[in-house]
Amino acid sequence: MELHIGCIPGDGIGPEIVGEARKVLDRVAEKFGHTIQYTEILLGGASIDAHGVPLTEEAIEAAKSSDAVLMGSIGGDANTSPWYKLPPQKRPEAGLLAIRKALGLFANLRPAVLYDELAGACPLKEEISKAGFDMMIMRELTGGLYFGERKTTVENGIRTAVDTLTYNENEIRRIAIKAFDIAMKRRKKVTSVDKANVLDSSRLWRDVVNEVAKDYPQVELSHMLVDNCAMQLVKDPAQFDVILTENMFGDILSDEASMVTGSIGMLASASLNDTSFGLYEPSHGSAPDIAGKDIANPIATILSASMMLRYSFDLSAEADAVDNAVKQVLKDGYRTSDIMSEGCKKVGCRE
Ligand code: ATP
Ligand code: MG
Repeated sequence: MELHIGCIPGDGIGPEIVGEARKVLDRVAEKFGHTIQYTEILLGGASIDAHGVPLTEEAIEAAKSSDAVLMGSIGGDANTSPWYKLPPQKRPEAGLLAIRKALGLFANLRPAVLYDELAGACPLKEEISKAGFDMMIMRELTGGLYFGERKTTVENGIRTAVDTLTYNENEIRRIAIKAFDIAMKRRKKVTSVDKANVLDSSRLWRDVVNEVAKDYPQVELSHMLVDNCAMQLVKDPAQFDVILTENMFGDILSDEASMVTGSIGMLASASLNDTSFGLYEPSHGSAPDIAGKDIANPIATILSASMMLRYSFDLSAEADAVDNAVKQVLKDGYRTSDIMSEGCKKVGCRE
């Protein structure tokens, strides 16, 4: 099979971790008899430096003509980087929001997995970390507060700011269908998270998810209020299989879930649209504090490449091979400094 992969190294540690993930992809291709064609794409700070804007039309076109895109990370240190002297719509993150919108990436998948070998890094009680957990958070990515109308007004010297949270039923239905499809390939449980005791948008969310659930009789659906979910993630994370939620709740809950694994350098993510196309990137940011030092953990990006093989190319044997290789590296005791513990062998990003 010929894989046409768009490649966005990005900013900070991005180029280092993408470089390592590409080596893994190349090795998988060699082993399983595929060929890979990479197209390099500039986004974020790297694009500002080259073109003065965080995203160009050419970059969007290059991404669209790829089967899938592998990305490192976008952005820099907000206190020191000149990119943050620009107005918000010209900063690196604006490029990321715009490319997600241009590609119609409405479903953001973030697995939060506690690996046996890293249970010691989990900040939760020992009986919880011993039990382990493996959940998939699915966050709606193109609606809600992040894309709603916003304005700030001043009246009689008093400033008022408004953000609006809007969803229509089609936007809810398509992400719910994705969540149920993925649950079918996992433990067949969906927890839909909302704030239906307060918000109209959440009441519609709940209605539409209930409708979609009728087409998936094997999947067990439950609804949970977002405040309760935030609590349950630290009390009993093993109860979750697929968590389905809107944009801002998903942003917050997926960060919380990643922290309870104890190792954000390990967590992958995927953003999908209606086709097999996806944008794959680590859940963590560009870590400017450690950029260029060859100490970043490349595993989140390597696991993102594995998700790409699984979801965009339907190559599950190849994806399993990558996942197993990651587990073997951990079993063999190799650790980057972010997940280092006693008795293990410390290695750098490239190593
Ligand atoms: P963003 O706003 O882009 O999500 P952030 O400020 O929330 O970024 P990160 O850039 O993810 O945070 O970094 C948070 C901390 O985790 C930093 O100290 C960083 O060095 C560390 N970190 C992030 N990714 C990795 C990695 N792959 N390997 C090692 N350390 C990492
Ligand atoms: Mg962050």
